[in-house]
Amino acid sequence: MSYFRPNIDQMKGYVPGEQPRESEVIKLNTNENAYPPSPRVFEAIQRALTKQLRRYPDPLATEFRQAAAEVLRVSPDSIIACNGSDEALTLLTRACVEPSGLMVSPTPSYPLYENLAEIQGCRFEHRPFDEGGRLPRGLTRGAALTLVPNPNSPTGTFAPPEELLAHAEEATGLLVSDEAYADFALGHCLPLIEKCERLVVTRSFSKGYSLAGLRFGFLVAQPTIVRTLLKLKDSYNVDALAIAAATAAIRDQEYFLGNVKKILATRKRLASGLEDLGFQATPSSANFVWATRSTPLEPIYQELKRRGILIRFLRYPGFGEGLRVTVGTDAEIDRLLSELKSIV
Ligand SMILES: *Cc1c(COP(=O)(O)O)cnc(C)c1O
Repeated sequence: MSYFRPNIDQMKGYVPGEQPRESEVIKLNTNENAYPPSPRVFEAIQRALTKQLRRYPDPLATEFRQAAAEVLRVSPDSIIACNGSDEALTLLTRACVEPSGLMVSPTPSYPLYENLAEIQGCRFEHRPFDEGGRLPRGLTRGAALTLVPNPNSPTGTFAPPEELLAHAEEATGLLVSDEAYADFALGHCLPLIEKCERLVVTRSFSKGYSLAGLRFGFLVAQPTIVRTLLKLKDSYNVDALAIAAATAAIRDQEYFLGNVKKILATRKRLASGLEDLGFQATPSSANFVWATRSTPLEPIYQELKRRGILIRFLRYPGFGEGLRVTVGTDAEIDRLLSELKSIV
């Protein structure tokens, strides 16, 4: 006998990338930012620490929504602050998908999506990118919720925002542009939200804003969609320190853009370094590079790990395997490339 719903008993549980305890490890496996957050973030947390811990936080994170609305040129009423963008994905799943309903994502993409479907107890389908690496026709067919990372993980490829809009327009359910990596890309779907109520964007502070440890993200959709989703969220889903920190971070665009610029320059060096060593590096619009090779990759991953460098080895049925390498600092990438040179 079990105490749990059958779908919970049957699911394996999501396995996130390793978070090693030892600090000497060069950590290029979970796409955290190579640089620390803005100094303004520490000041804001300090202020919030001395003033705001006794009381509950603002349930709507109003200060953050106003700051983000200004920077991103959307209405504050179209934003929900979340405990990481993963929470936004959870809210959407809970709100939209019946047990008999269908959730869809292109494959290869973010494995967490299938896990959310397992918890919900609904159906899930992977729909492969087409030969040219484009989103497949009929992507959203029959789906109550379609999740598309854009830029994609693990490949780093980017679909033009108009293509996502076209898929949202033919959908019957919501289509989510999961823009955890949009800070490193040349475009995004925010200006298209007002054109289609089925288009929803999620954003993260974990990658572009160097705040993975804080857990903060947000969702953007038309206000009618937002009002419904607000009914499901925990009243105090984001804490006072996180609201203060994220508000300070998004206001300091100069610092943020400076970091992004450095990461894009290092991304280029990483990709060409990998190509020089005989890998195929997929052109990336994110803060990581997907590298493949005709020889087995798992031993390379293992040997790097033995030498204190952690990257990600990933294998997808029907697609193949590759190494996903986070764009670290220049020093980290130099060390990675020189170790790789002696391995391959
Ligand atoms: C990292 C990542 C997220 C999660 O971001 P959090 O804000 O840390 O929850 C969501 N989607 C994709 C594709 C990611 O890679």
